[in-house]
Amino acid sequence: MSYTVKIKDIQNITHDVKQLTFEKPGGYEFSPGQATEVAIDKEGWRDEKRPFTFTSLPKDDYLEFVIKIYPEHDGVTEQIGKLEPGDNLMIGDAWGTIQYDGEGVFLAGGAGVTPFIAILRDLHEKSEIGDNHLIFSNKSPKDVILKEEFESILGIQFTSLVTDEFSKDDLFLDGYIDKDFLKKQITDFEQPFYVCGPKEFNEAMMTYLKELGADPDALVFEE
Ligand SMILES: Cc1cc2nc3c(=O)[nH]c(=O)nc-3n(C[C@H](O)[C@H](O)[C@H](O)COP(=O)(O)OP(=O)(O)OC[C@H]3O[C@@H](n4cnc5c(N)ncnc54)[C@H](O)[C@@H]3O)c2cc1C
Repeated sequence: MSYTVKIKDIQNITHDVKQLTFEKPGGYEFSPGQATEVAIDKEGWRDEKRPFTFTSLPKDDYLEFVIKIYPEHDGVTEQIGKLEPGDNLMIGDAWGTIQYDGEGVFLAGGAGVTPFIAILRDLHEKSEIGDNHLIFSNKSPKDVILKEEFESILGIQFTSLVTDEFSKDDLFLDGYIDKDFLKKQITDFEQPFYVCGPKEFNEAMMTYLKELGADPDALVFEE
């Protein structure tokens, strides 16, 4: 099923990430963490579909995506970067990506945090954040999507790392996530682990986590 939906609002939430709010078709259903195929309703772009994850909640009367723009791909996200309120998107039905399976550790690299946005917002709404922990790795502080919101939802259970630029404040840890880092941050490797990021990030996390005895669930975000 394909739905044509009008964009209501576009906000820049980092230097290369936009938040798009758009109409929700009547009866449209999805659960937090689910994605859909998206195309731009413009000549030449209607058959170019890319997956994006809903960041609004099922109860909201609008839909929302948080999208990283890659101008160098010469693809759909470059075009999304040029859209304005009033333009239309075409979306399909929602399908599963990462399933929330109980309190655990979320490991995200860059835009790979998007499936975790709706899951964590939903848990926060239900006052069920519990011991969930988000470890979020980015190249530099300016790349961190929704930092204030994660700090507010998760408090000290939000760990932010930057890999390519030393941070000037102690809100960030410097460096890559490796096995020693995971051992220092986490005591229980039997809890659920949710991993989402670029291929190399996922491969590294899966290797370390499996070596530490965990059974992680992962979703690859191509970059
Ligand atoms: C299930 C799922 C859900 C997703 N949800 C989100 C989301 O909510 N938000 C979000 O921001 N992203 C999300 N993504 C990632 C998103 O789909 C991709 O970033 C997007 O499809 C890229 O589209 P594009 O048209 O810009 O690039 P494309 O043209 O599709 O390029 C795709 C691939 O081509 C390669 N490539 C092409 N040109 C270049 C170039 N010049 N330099 C380097 N590499 C190049 C890269 O390997 C890249 O991965 C999701 C991905 C998946 C699988």
